[in-house]
Amino acid sequence: MSAIFEILDKDAGGRIGRLRTPHGTIETPTVMPVINPNIQLIPPKEMRNFGAEILITNSYIIYRKEELKSVALEKGLHGLLGFDGPIMTDSGSFQLSVYGSVEVTNEEILGFQQKIGSDIIVPLDIPTPPDVHYRRAEEELAITAERLEAARKFIQGEQLLAGPVQGSTYPELREKAASHLKDLNFEVYPLGAVVPLMEAYRYAELVDVIAASKKGLSPASPVHLFGAGHPMMFALAVAMGCDLFDSAAYALYAKDGRYITVNGTYHVEKLNYLPCSCPVCSKYTAEELKKADNREELLGRHNLYATFAEIRLIKQCIKDGKLLELVEQRCRAHPKLLDGLKKLYTHSSWLEQLDPATKGTFFYCGPESSSRPEVMRFGKRLDRFSLQGSVIIRTGPIKGEKDYDQILTFKAPFGAFPTEMEEVYPFNAEVPKFPDYESLDTALSNTLKLMDLNPEAEFTFICEEEFKHPLIEEITKRAKLVYRKDWKKE
Ligand SMILES: [Zn+2]
Repeated sequence: MSAIFEILDKDAGGRIGRLRTPHGTIETPTVMPVINPNIQLIPPKEMRNFGAEILITNSYIIYRKEELKSVALEKGLHGLLGFDGPIMTDSGSFQLSVYGSVEVTNEEILGFQQKIGSDIIVPLDIPTPPDVHYRRAEEELAITAERLEAARKFIQGEQLLAGPVQGSTYPELREKAASHLKDLNFEVYPLGAVVPLMEAYRYAELVDVIAASKKGLSPASPVHLFGAGHPMMFALAVAMGCDLFDSAAYALYAKDGRYITVNGTYHVEKLNYLPCSCPVCSKYTAEELKKADNREELLGRHNLYATFAEIRLIKQCIKDGKLLELVEQRCRAHPKLLDGLKKLYTHSSWLEQLDPATKGTFFYCGPESSSRPEVMRFGKRLDRFSLQGSVIIRTGPIKGEKDYDQILTFKAPFGAFPTEMEEVYPFNAEVPKFPDYESLDTALSNTLKLMDLNPEAEFTFICEEEFKHPLIEEITKRAKLVYRKDWKKE
């Protein structure tokens, strides 16, 4: 299956990839605009103008409506929508989650998707919502597993088959489901039933669900975060290895008069200015947009422009090795996203295995940066430094340092490392002159660890006056501590 998805660039858990489908190859990460076969706010054939490479629609809606069904069977899905690029189809699982039942079997809807020429086919899985009883999650997972196994036997041709990962809000069930599906070799892995988490801003739990699912899957497989359409959280999800998103949000929000930005959503009635330079926002003032007869369509267009602009920025950040900097900025748009960021870094040791060992200059963006994979990696490798004799640790060159056997540079959030490595990644990091508490905490802990690992060495620590942290006291037990301002005055 490796030929279907190829990874070109990586940063943190994020990647730029190429996914091959019967109707062409797309570059990921990307968003699939959701096309409602009944009402089209923006015609599918125009979607490429926004940057869309692949669409998603619902095969169950088509299947249930005779006039749509007959056209789809006659002209194919691509003929029905008037789009010649890749199209993914959902199965009716969403309707199942909303209405409790659907009037179609797994085999019927799989056969229908196959017949109308869907590029990515989705089986009729059971989308178990968050917070259900463990037993229910387990039982529904067993039904989903059966249906997915049947689907895998059924769909064997050129068309791609999605294997949705369920398991509610139980990370262990998500991981178990994912590792079971991995062995069945699906081409795409959607993470299902996460919409209620996103709607309730439960980003910390979303992070756990994504991490657990990803840990069960092969890192080489493409992952679709089903139902995620707000650009505010794309960077976070991409950094965890999500490759596909789908946006019904552009149209649903437009219907409600809502204007999407990466920093959150505005109601158009409350906007005095349009903080965007897309063709819609460049042409209209906020007042004109509010009163426009086609307001819904204009908002839908703006929402799509804002969505794809973020995808392009994310891809550039992956190229530059700056994805986590973007994640840390984006997660400041909402306190609950900040919870998501903090949760992300509780998975730093997993992330560290995926993160390239060298990349662009590390920029310190705030306390959370102290928990980045690079910092963690350094902390784990302190035993590589062997120190003897007199060792001086200082933040920058000082008088008389050559008299010492070894000179180390202290830089928060890392700690102390040989001065020769100052220009080497990640020690060439751009960090604030006045480190915050978290940054000092990590750096001083690592420095103490280094001292413990080298009990024979005699340490002198040149401390900056601005460093205020209880671990300074601990350092004085292991090293001669001198404030820089007092150095060589004594
Ligand atoms: Zn705009």
